[in-house]
Amino acid sequence: VTVYLVGAGPGHPELITVRGAALLGRAEVVVHDRLIGRGLLDLAPAGAEVVDVGKLPGGPPSQDGINALLVEHGRRGREVVRLKGGDPFVFGRGGEEAEALSAAGVPFEVVPGVTSATAAPGAAGIPVTHRGLSTSVTVVTGRVGDPSSPGVDWEALARAGGTLVVLMGMSERARIASALLVAGRDPATPVAVVHWATTGDQRVVRTTLSDLPAVDLPSPSTIVIGEVAALDVGAGMPPG
Ligand code: SAH
Repeated sequence: VTVYLVGAGPGHPELITVRGAALLGRAEVVVHDRLIGRGLLDLAPAGAEVVDVGKLPGGPPSQDGINALLVEHGRRGREVVRLKGGDPFVFGRGGEEAEALSAAGVPFEVVPGVTSATAAPGAAGIPVTHRGLSTSVTVVTGRVGDPSSPGVDWEALARAGGTLVVLMGMSERARIASALLVAGRDPATPVAVVHWATTGDQRVVRTTLSDLPAVDLPSPSTIVIGEVAALDVGAGMPPG
């Protein structure tokens, strides 16, 4: 195996898997994007080539450009760690990278990670399911342009009830709230927004669905919608 698609976890440097940390510790090339916990890159050997694809000269490359970079390094037989925030297969475009490597005949392995979809609520003391309150959790992207587009069926989500976890949703929060309200979700539905969960920069804002548009937290933030968002059962992990 030459290319490892490794989940870095939500931000805390100790929330990478043991396998992910071991692979990072012997990587020859590390290709990572912006949302990687500080300190994680310290695990890479001093001589490793570290490529931040969020910040290459000339601007961030396209997904095709990243795929090509992985294929190129992989073909040279180098130990490549493609470090991705959270889990590589949850809105991380890891699937596309796997397909590109597979098509190019480059051997690769996927190392799962702790996804922010559960870790961010958890770090705020919010269990995404809770007996008597929520029997389901749906993880959805907020980056859909127009939430009434066929990309995400907000009406069906509103009807289904349960917990909604929205990733990449802050810039569209007003449209998401309004789509859910129009579809009949209660304006008083509890909402929590968790910014930079598990790190020293973590911030949690509690509100309601009708007041979600007023929450102004930058990326990366996870929006939790549903009865569980009012809970704080405690989390207790010191920030990374
Ligand atoms: N593959 C990642 C998700 C990538 S999409 C995973 O499994 O976690 C990026 C989005 O994830 C961000 O816009 C934000 O909504 C969420 N996110 C990532 N890290 C986060 C963190 N530390 N705290 C809160 N939300 C986070």
